[in-house]
Amino acid sequence: MKHIGPHVSASGGVENAPLNAMRVGATAFALFTKNQRQWFSAPMDGKSATAFAENCFKAGISPDFILPHDSYLINLGSPDSDGLEKSRKSFVEEMHRCEQLGLKMLNFHPGSHLRQITVDECLDRVAESVNIALAKTQNVTAVIENTAGQGSNVGFSFHHLAHIINKVDDKTRVGVCLDTCHTYSAGYDIKTQNGYNSTFDEFEEVVGFKYLKGIHLNDTKKEFGSRVDRHESIGKGLLGMEFFERFMNDPRFDNIPIILETPDESLWADEIRLLTSLVG
Ligand SMILES: [Zn+2]
Ligand SMILES: [Zn+2]
Repeated sequence: MKHIGPHVSASGGVENAPLNAMRVGATAFALFTKNQRQWFSAPMDGKSATAFAENCFKAGISPDFILPHDSYLINLGSPDSDGLEKSRKSFVEEMHRCEQLGLKMLNFHPGSHLRQITVDECLDRVAESVNIALAKTQNVTAVIENTAGQGSNVGFSFHHLAHIINKVDDKTRVGVCLDTCHTYSAGYDIKTQNGYNSTFDEFEEVVGFKYLKGIHLNDTKKEFGSRVDRHESIGKGLLGMEFFERFMNDPRFDNIPIILETPDESLWADEIRLLTSLVG
């Protein structure tokens, strides 16, 4: 079965996120557990954490289908020692927040080399950052998101994801999330039947579906291989409905959170209904 829902707002408190998901008929959701534009935040309030769990229960969504996203400021592959230290500290804090909320995963963008170190050196730093975070926390899996490869971002190639996983000590607490917009922009042609088959064959060979912990299901505004990250609403971009129909009928994507990061929130309820209607 497919579990779908948007990246919802947690404004006013994390406990509001599951209610926002319920309102659009979601069976999965993503959220920021704190202000994503800040490095650090006040400790999680116990009352808020309890209300979060109660509201998830009310919405009928288990932590298996909730995929929190970390702050955009964090660069776990930073070439700069101060930046790296701050990022690692902030990431550990985010992992702790997930633990406090009873969540099992934290989704993050691998990082950027900022043209100061090589791609491999950057990936090594990301893996080391994950090792540090896993050693300081329990039960939360670090979920690496593939990127479009904009600027100096690493993580656009499946080989980058495999490089990080290979250097993470605890393989039971590392995974990946594929963003369909990023995948296409990075140069994997998931739009055509042949390209879809070869892309996911390659993913299985290089990374392995056993590491797939979630999907960001987005259409894209930018052409194939553009390396530019611009999400579009489902069916309104360049991926096309045939892709979404193929995806919705592919059992390899069952029983993981499928998150919509589509730009028009007034369409979320319709997007979930539309996608569900494609299951044949
Ligand atoms: Zn992301
Ligand atoms: Zn994404």
